[in-house]
Amino acid sequence: MIAPPGAGKGTQADRLAKRFDIDHVSSGELLRAEVEQGSDFGLQARQYLDAGDLVPDDVVLAMIMNRLVAADDAGGFVLDGFPRNLPQAQAAAEAAREDQVRVQAVINLEVSTEEVRRRLLDRAAAGGRSDDQEATIDHRLEVYDAQTQPLIEYYRGRGVLRTVDGEQPVDDVAADVLDSLIDLTSPG
Ligand code: AMP
Repeated sequence: MIAPPGAGKGTQADRLAKRFDIDHVSSGELLRAEVEQGSDFGLQARQYLDAGDLVPDDVVLAMIMNRLVAADDAGGFVLDGFPRNLPQAQAAAEAAREDQVRVQAVINLEVSTEEVRRRLLDRAAAGGRSDDQEATIDHRLEVYDAQTQPLIEYYRGRGVLRTVDGEQPVDDVAADVLDSLIDLTSPG
């Protein structure tokens, strides 16, 4: 699931995972849990999370790859927030080849920058996460444009990209996400 911060990828990934009874693996949630626990990963990640920067690739890859192999063995997963840049995507593709984990589809939830900014500011006003502050929000959106957005072309080129309008009401987005996967999910 690729989308700018605030586009609803966590919500949609969660619904999809429940629908197919598979794991929802969120790199952001895993990182926040590591910070909370004060683990080694958490200590290395904290400053980046707070600043709205990407956590270094080696930390993220070390944290997530084993979980993906385990989730794949357990029947599959919806991945939210990872990969976040081209080096991560290449590392994931390499690991997937070795472990024979297949990326079936990449969903690009399209939401305009103005709309995600508005949603994140609303979330901040409602007492959101530590990285929901105006300056950090703008920085996270810049990081998305510079580092994550190029993955859309990368996955389009690999023939796995599905694009969904993420500005609709949440149930309509969920329905379109399911529709976009119909060739993978319908029997026969
Ligand atoms: P998210 O919950 O996906 O919005 O992620 C929150 C924060 O966690 C991001 O702003 C980054 O600091 C960090 N993060 C999450 N996923 C990754 C990733 N794949 N690579 C690097 N940093 C990440």
